[in-house]
Amino acid sequence: MDTRALKNPYPDYDGTPACTQHLFDHQGRLTAEFAGRVSSKINELLSHMENGLKSADPRDCSGYTGWAGIALLYLHLFDVYGEASFLQRALDYVSRSLQCLTRRWVTFLCGDAGPLAVAAVIYHRLQRRQEADDCLGRLLQYQRSVVRGEGSLPDELLYGRIGYLYSLVFVNQQYQGEKIPMQYIQEICEAILASGENLSRKGRTQDKTPLLYEWYQEYYVGAAHGLAGIYYFLMQPGFGVGDDRLLRVVKPSMDYMCQLKFPSGNYPPCIGDTRDQLVHWCHGSPGVLYMLLQAHKVYGEDQYLLGALECGEVIWERGLLKKGYGLCHGAAGNAYGFLALYKHTHAPQHLYRACRFAEWCLDYGKHGCRTPDTPFSLFEGMAGTIYFLADLMQPLRSKFPAFEM
Ligand SMILES: [Zn+2]
Repeated sequence: MDTRALKNPYPDYDGTPACTQHLFDHQGRLTAEFAGRVSSKINELLSHMENGLKSADPRDCSGYTGWAGIALLYLHLFDVYGEASFLQRALDYVSRSLQCLTRRWVTFLCGDAGPLAVAAVIYHRLQRRQEADDCLGRLLQYQRSVVRGEGSLPDELLYGRIGYLYSLVFVNQQYQGEKIPMQYIQEICEAILASGENLSRKGRTQDKTPLLYEWYQEYYVGAAHGLAGIYYFLMQPGFGVGDDRLLRVVKPSMDYMCQLKFPSGNYPPCIGDTRDQLVHWCHGSPGVLYMLLQAHKVYGEDQYLLGALECGEVIWERGLLKKGYGLCHGAAGNAYGFLALYKHTHAPQHLYRACRFAEWCLDYGKHGCRTPDTPFSLFEGMAGTIYFLADLMQPLRSKFPAFEM
C-alpha cells in the first residue's frame, strides 16, 4: 500500500482511438479543445503565481526555489507562445536574481551559474550583446575552480560539478551553437570521471563499479543528487568521454546501479536503502528513466529500453504524489517521464499518460495534497506545473527544465 501517492483515477491507455481522441490526434497534436483547457489553466495559474510571489523570499536567487526559476519559466513561455511581454517578465525576474547571488554555490539550480546563464540568454534574445557577454564572462570565471573541485565540490546535479556543467550546456542549446567551447565541458567531464574512479578505488569497489559518487556521505542513486543524473550527462555525445571509456567505465557502473532496482521497477534513493517509497524525479524511477533512455541510445541494448518502460509503469501507478504538482517531487515532474518515453518511442500510450497527468494538474489544489515550502517556485511549486503544461503543447520539443538535454 503506497502512502505517498494518491490512487491514479484514470483508465490506462487501451489502444483504441476512443481513448485518445479527446486529447490528441493520430499525429500527436493536442485537440483544440484540450489545448484550450491547458492554455486557460496556464493563464489562471500564472496570475495566481504572480500574486503568491509577492510574499516569496526576496533574497532567493536560485533556479530551484527562487527568482531565476521564475525567469526560466517566462523564457520558456516566450519560446512557446512568442509573446514579447513574457520575455520582459523574464528580464525583470532574472535582474532580481542577479542582485542576490549566493556567492557560495556554483550550479544551475542552486547556485550562481543558473542566474548568470539564464540572464545571458535573455539579454541575447533582447539583442543586448554587451550585457549577455558580461554574464557569460562571469559564468566562465568559475570553470577552473569547478574542474579543480575547490571547496570539496561534489559531482551531483543540484550542488556539484554536473550542475555547473549544465549551465554551459544550457547556454549552447539556447544560442544554438558552440558559444561556449566544448573543451570547457569536456574538462569538467574529465574531472567527474577522475572523481568517480578515485572514490571507487578508495572503497575498493572497482570490480563492481569503476565509478562511484557520494553526496553528504551517501551514495545517492537518483537524478538530483546521484549516479543516474551523473551517468546521464557522461553519456552525452561530444562531452569527451569517448567510446572506450563509455564501455569500460561508464557502462559497468551503470549496470551495477541498475541491479539495485526493486522488484516493483523503482529504484532506491541511496545504495543500501531497502525502502521502496519514493517515486520522484529527484529520487527513484522518474529520474533514472532519462539515464536508461540515453543508455539505450548509446549502447543499443534492449534491457535499457525495457528498464525505462518499467519506470513508466511505476510512474503511472504511483506518480500522483501527495507532495503535490511540482517538478522535483510532484505530478508534473513525474509526467515528464512519459514525455521522454514518447519522444523516444513515439508510442501514443506515453503521450496519453502525460495528458492524463496534465489533467490531474488542471485540478491543481483539489486533491488534498500538501503545500510545498515554496508554493510558487519552479522546482517545488506552481511555476513548475505551468512549465510542464506549456511543454505539453509541443510534446516532441518538451524537456525537463534544468536537466534534460
Ligand atoms: Zn525532490
